[in-house]
Amino acid sequence: MDWEKISSEAKIELLQVTDLLSLEKWRISYLGRKSALALFLRQLKDLPLEEKKIQGPLSNKVRQSWEKMYQEKNDDLKNNQIVSDSWDHTVPVKSALNGHLHPLTLMAEKVVSVFEKMGFEIVEGPEVEDDYHNFEALNVPANHPARDMWDTFWIKSDEKEKNLLLRTHTSPDQIRYMETHQPPFRILVPGRAYRHEATDATHEMQFYQIEGLVVSEDITLANFKNIIEESVRHIFKKDFKIIFRPDYFPFVSPGVEVDISCFKCRGKGCRLCSNTGWIEVMGAGMVHEKVLTNVGYEKGRYQGFAFGLGLERYAMIQYGIDEIRLFESADLRFLKQF
Ligand SMILES: [Zn+2]
Repeated sequence: MDWEKISSEAKIELLQVTDLLSLEKWRISYLGRKSALALFLRQLKDLPLEEKKIQGPLSNKVRQSWEKMYQEKNDDLKNNQIVSDSWDHTVPVKSALNGHLHPLTLMAEKVVSVFEKMGFEIVEGPEVEDDYHNFEALNVPANHPARDMWDTFWIKSDEKEKNLLLRTHTSPDQIRYMETHQPPFRILVPGRAYRHEATDATHEMQFYQIEGLVVSEDITLANFKNIIEESVRHIFKKDFKIIFRPDYFPFVSPGVEVDISCFKCRGKGCRLCSNTGWIEVMGAGMVHEKVLTNVGYEKGRYQGFAFGLGLERYAMIQYGIDEIRLFESADLRFLKQF
């Protein structure tokens, strides 16, 4: 018998065994009563003495090694079986937590997409500004009483002449854009602004503004009214009452404030709208001539309008939220609703 050849076949077959049933088949064919080895061992006694002395120990060695292989494989499979038996495939899986967008991001995307459809170009600017772009070029010279309208976070800086600050509005980007572009154009600047003031249900120290600016030779306040009414209709998909009332901002003339009817009390008056029935959502107006000449435009040639809308106010109206401070609260009970 060529035990070496049979042994290597047995090893290869055993490697392919993956369950106890096929292991039993392997055992029967190599170690069973009718196996070649068993037949050989049974005939051993009939061999001549000399050959018996050689074949006896050899075939016994083969049997021992096969039995050992069998035992090891058997242990192996049984251990694995314990693991797979304890694995219950029918237990429902705990679903993974999915991330989602912040309500302000959702709102910003909505506003941006509506204005983009109206032909506005999206522009961004720095949050750390200098005095010139944040105030002076916007017709708010140093020591002008109007500066009190913006409680400012000033930044300690070595370059004292630059007077750095956290921008109090997105309006400096009007200046930055006009310094490098000629009309006609319509731009939208979404971004964060900062004011050093007490917070309440509708005021935060940091907030998002979306600035709009449209300049050409013949833009009027009627165009502004039309664009704002159209955008509000497309953003909220509801017919909100909108009013335009006179207001003062140094960089526009005339200036207007845009109010939307209070979503909470429906105009009756509540804490959110300070009992007026209206919520201010933006400041706007016709760009002041001084601002246009400050950026180098020919005097009297161009006119346009600018607006700065409060993104948080828009989101409050959209989602019926009556507390602005929730947006930055990182409270998951609040955020998970979006
Ligand atoms: Zn109200």
